Amino acid sequence: MSKLRTEIARRRTFAIISHPDAGKTTVTEKLLLYGGAIQLAGTVKGRKAARYATSDWLELEKQRGISVTSSVMQFPYQGFIVNLLDTPGHEDFSEDTYRTLTAVDSALMVIDSAKGVEERTIKLMDVCRLRATPIMTFMNKLDREGRDPISLMDEVEKVLKIRCAPITWPIGMGKSFRGIYHLPLDQVRLSAGGPHSPTKEEGIIKGLNNPELDKRLGLQAEQLREEVELLREASHSFDVEAYRRGELTPVFFGSAINNLGIRELLESFVEHAPPPQPRETTTRVVDSGEPMLTGFVFKIQANMDPNHRDRIAFLRVCSGVYRKSMKLRHLRSNKELRIANAITFMASEREHVQEAYPGDIVGLYNHGTIQVGDTLTEGEELKFTGIPNFAPELFRLALLQNPMRMKALQKGLIQLCEEGASQLFRPLTGNELVVGALGILQFDVVAFRLKHEYGVDCRFESANAVTARWVSCDDPERLEAFKERNRGHLALDICGDLAYLAPSRVNLELTAERWPEIRFHATREH
Ligand code: GDP
Repeated sequence: MSKLRTEIARRRTFAIISHPDAGKTTVTEKLLLYGGAIQLAGTVKGRKAARYATSDWLELEKQRGISVTSSVMQFPYQGFIVNLLDTPGHEDFSEDTYRTLTAVDSALMVIDSAKGVEERTIKLMDVCRLRATPIMTFMNKLDREGRDPISLMDEVEKVLKIRCAPITWPIGMGKSFRGIYHLPLDQVRLSAGGPHSPTKEEGIIKGLNNPELDKRLGLQAEQLREEVELLREASHSFDVEAYRRGELTPVFFGSAINNLGIRELLESFVEHAPPPQPRETTTRVVDSGEPMLTGFVFKIQANMDPNHRDRIAFLRVCSGVYRKSMKLRHLRSNKELRIANAITFMASEREHVQEAYPGDIVGLYNHGTIQVGDTLTEGEELKFTGIPNFAPELFRLALLQNPMRMKALQKGLIQLCEEGASQLFRPLTGNELVVGALGILQFDVVAFRLKHEYGVDCRFESANAVTARWVSCDDPERLEAFKERNRGHLALDICGDLAYLAPSRVNLELTAERWPEIRFHATREH
């Protein structure tokens, strides 16, 4: 097998989807712990705070107690290279999450076993379904009194419309939670007690009928045997093809905080999760094994390191090999870019990249040339599809305290909105700046960052719009006529695309009726 094929076969790129508080951060931390990327549990949050102690930006995160930046972590596990794309948990940043999900090959769904399927999980599953993303499920917090495991799986099947195949099964729950049983391997892993990471052999009992089990578990051993017997009859068995088609999810039970069930999950994950998959473009399907580099940008982040004022475009490599200092063609501007200092995201450090393969994420420093959704290649004219921009539902006018700072305000807004969380609209008439967002918190973030990163004091006042629609029309004359008649409601977005800012839903409906040739789009595909 060629080097490229070998590297592709060992890549696994995924994201975690969950409702806030289900345990995503804890699971992430434990995965990194097993991957050897961090030495001690409790460091994901702690270290972030320490390393960026000077960053006002993270100060805001700390104040709010939320994580608004998403990052990429790469770690090795048993010869595989795992790329975990973190997604912000807070609802107001869901667009960022949606786009990150376009850059993965599979997802891990974490569910709080006491709460079952929650609202955010439902939404995120809908997004995964758009691309039939394969899903593994981790039922977390079995050390708490939760719901009965069978009814949890039933709920996943009914609400999320995906078949469940249990791989591990909990032994007891809450105070009587003793460990897990691995169905395919026919082995029990008992809780080692306390939140340290167990070694591979620790607490393992081979075989459900092993008398050792009765010694260690007493009555719970017999109960487990009965449950497993029932389970083998009543539940779906694991079918890797159905999993890869997104129709069936393997289910793991455990307690992330107590390191129970995570190793089993990770082992199954590297074995079964898909390697980098083919991707669609407007013209053809790109296979990951093609020798020429292609990739798309799913995220932009400004000023990650306050000392550098850098802007980083996150490029998902789709095919070929990325090599340091190579020339790339930026399809939207049709320019050649040479990016000398791209970075990779080893979980321990941001490192300078020498080579990156399909499935890897490369961070490209740039000064605003690259936007979310852009395709980069070694020369071929291609455009990857499926990276959505959602119409905002909240609109604010950006107003300055000091009118002399207009240039800085414009620059700041353009850069912050290029990251994609909020959107900038410039109305065709007048020189107002309208910011659109899906969640109210985004305005606070924008105002905070304008002040701290661009030195601009800006306040937001409500704007006369409730939703936006990108407009297009096959007939240029009709489009001109539409523009003439509706100038007051039209604006250009950051890419120069025309959008209709509707003052009310009724107005939008009436306008759409009046102009049947005009198409009104609620999402704009980059
Ligand atoms: P996130 O919001 O999804 O990232 O969730 P976190 O990982 O921050 O976890 C939310 C809370 O649940 C924290 O207080 C964790 O300590 C706690 N937690 C995570 N995993 C477990 C678990 O296995 N058992 C228990 N009892 N609590 C857990």
